[in-house]
This record gives sequence, C-alpha cells and structure tokens, in this order.
Amino acid sequence: MNKNYDTASVPKATLHEHIEGTVTPEMAQKLAARHNVELPAGFIFKEGEYDKKEFPNGRYAYDESDFGQFITTYDTAASMVRTPQDYYDVAKDYLTKNAQAGGVYAEMILSPAHMAVEKNPETGKDELSAKKYQTMLGAICQAAADVKEETGLETRFIATAVRNLGAESVMDVAKFVRDNPHPMVTGFGIAGNERSGEFDDFADALAIAKQAGLKLAVHAGEIRGPQSIKDAVRLGASRIGHGVSAIQDEQVMKDLAEKKIMVEVCPTSNRILVNELEGDLANHPARKLYDAGIMISINPDDAGIFGTNTGKEHRVSKKAFDFTKAEMYDITLSAIECSFSDVQTKKKVKESIYAKMDEKDRSEMAELAANAKNPILKARLENRVKESEKVAKKLEIQKRKDKVKAQPKASMIALRKKLSKNR
Ligand SMILES: [Zn+2]
Repeated sequence: MNKNYDTASVPKATLHEHIEGTVTPEMAQKLAARHNVELPAGFIFKEGEYDKKEFPNGRYAYDESDFGQFITTYDTAASMVRTPQDYYDVAKDYLTKNAQAGGVYAEMILSPAHMAVEKNPETGKDELSAKKYQTMLGAICQAAADVKEETGLETRFIATAVRNLGAESVMDVAKFVRDNPHPMVTGFGIAGNERSGEFDDFADALAIAKQAGLKLAVHAGEIRGPQSIKDAVRLGASRIGHGVSAIQDEQVMKDLAEKKIMVEVCPTSNRILVNELEGDLANHPARKLYDAGIMISINPDDAGIFGTNTGKEHRVSKKAFDFTKAEMYDITLSAIECSFSDVQTKKKVKESIYAKMDEKDRSEMAELAANAKNPILKARLENRVKESEKVAKKLEIQKRKDKVKAQPKASMIALRKKLSKNR
C-alpha cells in the first residue's frame, strides 16, 4: 500500500466550506482597507509571530481553546464581506486556491440571512431581499465561472439557514430559497449553533427545500450526540456536516454506511471546536468511519478563519488518519458521487479523476478492495477498480484512434517528400 505519496498528486473535492469563513487574514485586511474600517488591535498576528509556511495567508490571533474568541474572529472577518465585489473576491480567492491544490470540484455554503438581508424602508425591519440575494449570488457565480474557465474547477452552492436565529428564520430562509431558485444553488442546509432547537423544529423547512428539488446537507453530530445525526437522517439529509459523534452509536454507523450518507469530515475545524477530541486528531474517528464503509469527504469548513485550505486538510488527514493514496482517490470519488451536481457533471468529473490514475494507482486500488473487511466498503472499492479500468481502456482506445488519425497525414508528408526528391 502506498503511504509514501504526496497528497498534492491526488485530485480533491470539498463539499463543506462557508463562504464568509474563507476570509484569510490577508483578505480581511484588504477588505477593511476597501471599506475604510480599522480591524481590532491584535486581531491578526504580525510577521514573525507565526509560522509563515503553515499559514501562508496570515494567521488570526485568537486563542484556539477559547470558543468565544473564535466566534468573535469569525464574525469580525465575515462582517468585512459587504459588497458584490467583496463576495466575488473571497469566492475567487478560495476557489483558485482549491484548484491550485488539485481541487476538481467544490461546493460552498451561502447564508441568505448574512448576505441578502436589507432594511425594508417601509417597515424599518431587516428582511431578506430577493434583489440583494440575486446581486450577491451573481457576483459569487461569476467568480465560480471565471475559476472554471481558468482551471476547470466545477462549483455548486448550498443555501443554508442558521438554526440559532430561530425556527422562524430557518423557515423564512427555506421559503426564500424556494422562491428564488438559481441553477448553481443545488442544496439546502442547516448550520449554526447545534444546541439551538431540535431538528423536528425545522422539519417543515427541510420539507419545503426538498420539495423545491434541493438536496439536504445539515450540520449534525459536531457538538451534539448521535441522536442529532439520527434526526437529520430521518428528515431527509443526504450528507452530515461533521458527524463526529456517529462513532458513539453502532446503529448510526451502520445506517450511514448502508444508506450511503456522507459524513463531511473537517479535520482542523473539528480539532479546534469539538471538545471530545481534546485538541488531538488522534482522537478523531475519521479512520473508523471510513473502515466501517461510510463515505467521507475532507473539508476545510472555514478555511480562512482556521488558517487552512483544501491542500492542507488533505495533508493533515493523511498524517492523522493514515490514508493511502488509493483511499484518497476513493474519498474524492465518493465526494463527487455525494455531491449536489447533476448526473452529467458527476460523470465528467469522475472520469477526469480516474484518468489521473496510472497503472500503479489502479493496482493499489485492486489491492485495497481485496483487503477490505467491511462488505459495503469492499463493494464500493471493487466498483472503483472496474470503473478505473473502464476509463483506462477508453483512454487507450482514444490514444490509438488519435494515432491512426495522425498517420495518413504523416505518410502523406513522407510521400510528398519522396516525390519532391525524385523530381
Ligand atoms: Zn460548517
């Protein structure tokens, strides 16, 4: 099994990243200057106070063990993102870095309650504005389109409600997203403080989103126990954000594996925010989830705030969870299968991933499948082997066809040369 590989060589797909959380310290400074506001003193470490190699875009100065400080940092950085140009810049920055790290597909989480709220001049109240939503979304989608043109990276968006703003707000956001559809917004989610309310309080909102044709990815099992994951699954979630507490309940683990419900693992975020891990990824259940046949993806969550990115999260995961190269391929392919894009896009992106595998990668996948103990994992890996061979064959045939096409040209040139010599 190949553990001696560079994660940079494996294509990546990330499904869990909040747009306002992508703001790096560098970007926060740029936006603050743009809006003529002063960032709080001591908000960002000065040059020389942190490891520039680990934090190439600067480092926020909050104490990782202090949740209050983290939230304040998040809110301050997020409050710098105000205009369509700001949204364009932060989305472009994150997605470009993703592509540079080998990303082939990304989903980003948008919160209408953050980006589309405006004071209604008649009522004087803050309300969701369709016009503001369309403007901001337009800028974000333009960034995604530009990055796609430059790098090929595919992007989709998930509109999320924030549960600590209350069940009424969650309902308002669900209806708002239903009434303002956009082809790039393919999912609906619930984020925010997990301790606020129960999933049943949001059942109607989730049903509305589902009826509108949106797939559901909800945050669960991050701070609360496995019951929250059970509730989310019962109400139709097809992906669980974090899901760390799944490990506490064998039945939940079995259900997730059997129903092919993905757990979106966010290593650095979980290390910092999930108390049970005691700040150590050695206590993270990602390896156990994977071995139990559960499809997992690897995600930054709030890349800018946590001082991470897609490339770094994959490096961290390899080190902490000992994922082999074939397992990393499987994780990326799983993310595409569980993504909220259309069938055609999934097929195209999956083929592009398989096309990057060489013969050694394919034989490692076969070895991995042969050694897999969990029957669900084994079946999935066996399918990966089949699919990878199919793509390899297709490429081989294409190569031969190209050669044949090129041949008559070559022989014509030779013939012409011969004729001109004989003249
Ligand atoms: Zn999240």
